[in-house]
Amino acid sequence: MNVLVINCGSSSLKYQVIDSESEQVLAKGLCERIGIDGRLVYQPAGGEKEITDAPMPTHKEAVQMVLDALTNEKTGALKSLDEIDAIGHRIVHGGEKFTSSTIINDDVIKTVEECNDLAPLHNPANIIGINACRDLMPGVPMVGVFDTAFHQTMPKEAYMYGIPYEYYDKYKVRKYGFHGTSHSFVSKRAAEITGRDYGSLKTIVCHLGNGASICAVDGGRSVDTSMGLSPLEGLIMGTRSGDIDPSALEFIANKEGLDISGILQILNKKSGVEGISGVSSDFRDLEKASSEGNERATLAIDMFAYRVAKYVGSYAAAMNGVDVICFTAGIGENTGFIRKKVCDRLGYLGIALDESANSTRGEEIKISTADSKVEVYVIPTNEELAIARETVALVK
Ligand code: ADP
Repeated sequence: MNVLVINCGSSSLKYQVIDSESEQVLAKGLCERIGIDGRLVYQPAGGEKEITDAPMPTHKEAVQMVLDALTNEKTGALKSLDEIDAIGHRIVHGGEKFTSSTIINDDVIKTVEECNDLAPLHNPANIIGINACRDLMPGVPMVGVFDTAFHQTMPKEAYMYGIPYEYYDKYKVRKYGFHGTSHSFVSKRAAEITGRDYGSLKTIVCHLGNGASICAVDGGRSVDTSMGLSPLEGLIMGTRSGDIDPSALEFIANKEGLDISGILQILNKKSGVEGISGVSSDFRDLEKASSEGNERATLAIDMFAYRVAKYVGSYAAAMNGVDVICFTAGIGENTGFIRKKVCDRLGYLGIALDESANSTRGEEIKISTADSKVEVYVIPTNEELAIARETVALVK
């Protein structure tokens, strides 16, 4: 079965076609600058990357260009659109309404729309992508895979905020968590490679990308995660602040003459390691600047690793133990010096790092020593493959 996996942002659309039997990617790419001007990137398996600039006023034209590229006579990965058997859509926020992936129909779209005010930047774009696919490929079954669904198993004491209960009753203000597809994929894989029973394993997954979150997975269920109502809570990220005393916001707002949306813009876009270092949100740039003696780059790196280690410790406490710790996503997979800085703070858990294994990049590998009390792994995430698997499971 061939699955088209679609991940729509407000002005972008990432896509992959995955053959579910071989789990090979047949083609992948992205559309950028939708609604501005428009650029399509297309790459068939084993082929050259093609870049085409063409107007994309809406996501519908973007999807049309993707379909044209996929069925292009010369470089198309497919002979015709009939070869697309199902479409899997990443949907950011399912609120409390979606506890698992679901076949998309009119009712589901309506319910996703009801979650729009929880993710005003993301959900509307996801729905536009769904509608565009429905217009252009009517009859092809579609599945929605939610970033929040995996975390719906969190217990109430973990997901409630310490604010008046009426805000939960009236508006469903609570912790939801994100990156659920990745945390689920990586924790399952950890059980497979360690040969342990997923149903009794205590795993902490550190998804460290530009957006970063940590998840405590106890017996295959998410029991806590660092992102909250929105992705802003938790770790220090590329440009997001993570946890901060809310009173600091009022203080800064008064000093700088900012309103709430101005403050949130700063917390989302101008903070994190970029805001601290004044150098970059990218850890390659930070590592270079730090090695050249830039003290704020070094501070940003140390603060990032410290916050990760603090969350790992708190999740070991939340689960009353931990068997496996996994690092994944851009930083988790590629940045050995961050993994080392985190693990060096976790000696009390009996963790011993295999420095030679830790020097590898981007591959699945055990990075703890044979006598480490907790096993530590790098496990590359693959959210598109996870979405394709979920899609196949529901449409078969
Ligand atoms: P997202 O999906 O949230 O945009 P990614 O998981 O792609 O993020 O991670 C992006 C980040 O990973 C980059 O900002 C960079 O800090 C880091 N990264 C990616 N590749 C490398 C590398 N080879 N070495 C060091 N850091 C890397």
